[in-house]
Amino acid sequence: MQFELNMFWLLLPVAALSGWWIGRSNQGQKLPLKNIHPEYFKGLNFVLNEQPDKAIEVFIRMTEVDSETVETHLALGNLFRRRGEVDRAIRIHQNLIARPTLNQEQRAHALLELGMDYMRSGLLDRAEKLFLELVNFDLYLNEAYSHLLEIYQQEKDWENAIAVAKKSEIISGENFSPIIAQFYCEIAENYLNTGKVSKAKEKVHDAISFNSKCVRASIIEARIFQLTGKLDHAIKSYKRLELQDSTYITEVILPLYDCYKEKGSINEFIKYLRELVKKYGNINTLLILTELIAEYESEDVAINFVFQELKNRPTVQGVDKLVEYTLNKSKGATYEYLSAIKQLTTKLIEKKPTYKCNNCGFDAKMLHWQCPGCKHWESIQPIFGVAGE
Ligand SMILES: [Zn+2]
Repeated sequence: MQFELNMFWLLLPVAALSGWWIGRSNQGQKLPLKNIHPEYFKGLNFVLNEQPDKAIEVFIRMTEVDSETVETHLALGNLFRRRGEVDRAIRIHQNLIARPTLNQEQRAHALLELGMDYMRSGLLDRAEKLFLELVNFDLYLNEAYSHLLEIYQQEKDWENAIAVAKKSEIISGENFSPIIAQFYCEIAENYLNTGKVSKAKEKVHDAISFNSKCVRASIIEARIFQLTGKLDHAIKSYKRLELQDSTYITEVILPLYDCYKEKGSINEFIKYLRELVKKYGNINTLLILTELIAEYESEDVAINFVFQELKNRPTVQGVDKLVEYTLNKSKGATYEYLSAIKQLTTKLIEKKPTYKCNNCGFDAKMLHWQCPGCKHWESIQPIFGVAGE
């Protein structure tokens, strides 16, 4: 099907050519067929007969390239790239660019195609140069910026990614603010990992100024406060997630626990968790709360609590926890049965992905801010409920 579509595209110049030929002949002018290289018709014939490999050889051999045949060369190169034969696509496009007869628009188009060939073969530096050249020409700006953005993200060159995204936003009218905020978060995390806390803080503020709903920025900001001993500020930043996007709230339960523990106010934390379980009922929060109840109150209260919650929202992880507690209180044959059930529930939990991309369905065991599958930002989210626990 893909091949047929490409064939259709290849035929467009043929259609244009015949239109031009008929137009000319209607005006009673001399037929221009003699101006067209016979090899061109030979090539087209191979295309029409669905013999693309032979067609390619003919087109590569052709020495004369005019405005009609340029389109065919471009279409052919594109067809090759799509078929994964990038070396041949590069040959066709390089060959085309070397022609002195090309006008500026045609040359720019060939540069764009060659840039895409280089990207496909992983030659990002070469591709970058060509797209920057297009930016200088002020031609194919949308495409050039879009590819540059992809290159800078692949290279983790966040400063350039930000610069291009800002320009792209102006040209395309699309909203790039959420991904610009993610780029600032990348830089902030790099600073934080190398101990440059004040620089990290600066970049987090940039992220928030581009996207006030950026949960990742709140998490990084909270981590900075936590590292510098400002626990109340850290708690406030972590809790901000609930207002920004409550699906990510489980990401901050453990760091929040650390903050409250350090402050010596676990009771306050238990109260907060009870509110969260009531509102969102997600299993991770429930399990942590159960552990705390078992530790600070009693195991019996914890068992009763999980049991009641499971009736409302059944989950394998909840059952696993319930079995774990009752296992401690059983002996003999009951203990054996419960041990077997525990092994089953543990297996079930191990197999389940805990995160999923809502754009491409990529399953993940950990949170990625950029999906490794489709490269979308903020599309991977924790899974809740019976389906994913
Ligand atoms: Zn994805």
